[in-house]
Amino acid sequence: MVSPSPYDDRSSVARFSRGPGAGSQDVRVRLTERGVAIEGVDGEAPLIWPYGALTIAEPLSAQSIDALLSYSYQPGAALFVPDKIFARALMEHAPQLTLRARRMRSARPWFWAAGVAGAVVAGIWLSGFSPANALARMLPDKAREMLGDQVVASMTNGRATCVAPAGTAALDAMTAKLSAAAGTGQRFKVVVANWEVLNAFATPGERIVLTRGLIEAAKSPDEVAGVLAHEMGHGIELHPETGIVRGIGLAAATEIVLGGAGGLANIGLLLTQMSYSREAEREADRHALSILKGAQVSTDGLLSFFDRVAKMEENDGGTGIGVLRSHPQTEERRAVVAAAERYAATPALDAADWEALQSICTVTEGAETVPSAPPSPRPSKPLPGETDT
Ligand SMILES: [Zn+2]
Repeated sequence: MVSPSPYDDRSSVARFSRGPGAGSQDVRVRLTERGVAIEGVDGEAPLIWPYGALTIAEPLSAQSIDALLSYSYQPGAALFVPDKIFARALMEHAPQLTLRARRMRSARPWFWAAGVAGAVVAGIWLSGFSPANALARMLPDKAREMLGDQVVASMTNGRATCVAPAGTAALDAMTAKLSAAAGTGQRFKVVVANWEVLNAFATPGERIVLTRGLIEAAKSPDEVAGVLAHEMGHGIELHPETGIVRGIGLAAATEIVLGGAGGLANIGLLLTQMSYSREAEREADRHALSILKGAQVSTDGLLSFFDRVAKMEENDGGTGIGVLRSHPQTEERRAVVAAAERYAATPALDAADWEALQSICTVTEGAETVPSAPPSPRPSKPLPGETDT
């Protein structure tokens, strides 16, 4: 029997997600006799997660300030409760989630619990549950936007952004068309940095940074659209947020979830040093293909971008530029795009808007403290580790 704890007539605010891609929502949780009751999910009756089938990202202890829970019978779903009183009360109801229980299991490997723990770990692995990705999905939109602003600021630090009105209007129109085709309801914001390297980054909060070098290197609006669609794919899968949670650790990310803004000053650096896994790139390419199809923009743009990058590497005497060095799988990715189905397409921008976009850096805004090279016929090397495309 479980003794009543002072918590038992309270409830806590929490974030709930049904699974990858499902987004997350605010809910209330309660500890009941049957299990954790999750109230307010899609306006339905409360979900009950029985205590015995709960698993946790970080075991509970007296120092716990939150709990990131998953449930064996609802693979992929996650519940984040940023409440230390809840976390402590949960220890009484679900002692298997405590640090003590984990220590006992590891101290006595012959103990049956070890087998159970192994099964649970295998179950988590099979269901693709990743604490970092689950926590990324828990980040409130406000926190993701805040992170995105920080990252954009630190990436463009000392560099002006390109804001020629006609070019900005053309870029916004292209972004809106592709966002709508993504069909996730997300509204991406794209910033062009006055930076001669060829580069593109997705950042948290649906922000994307393109460089002047990328726009100058592109031979058609469809190439820019292809790169944008790929970066949107990273954004849809919350790859930048997940990378940051992995990089700074669960505890610091929890602070962000709780709304603390401190200590984020250098978070942009973290993202610039991150490279995505092969699977993440595949996911982003899959989204890119579907976004381009939805917007009726040809995938040839993405293909010629891959080709251009490959050619630049050859011209570079084999030392490689960042785009390929960090993406050895470019050949394989190119093949997937090349094999994608064909459909009727129109250019991502008409001739006048494309010309306007190419001139977007004729008007700039913000401090230019880093000496900027004059526009070059061929973009120079990205800095090591700074590329994601
Ligand atoms: Zn990428």
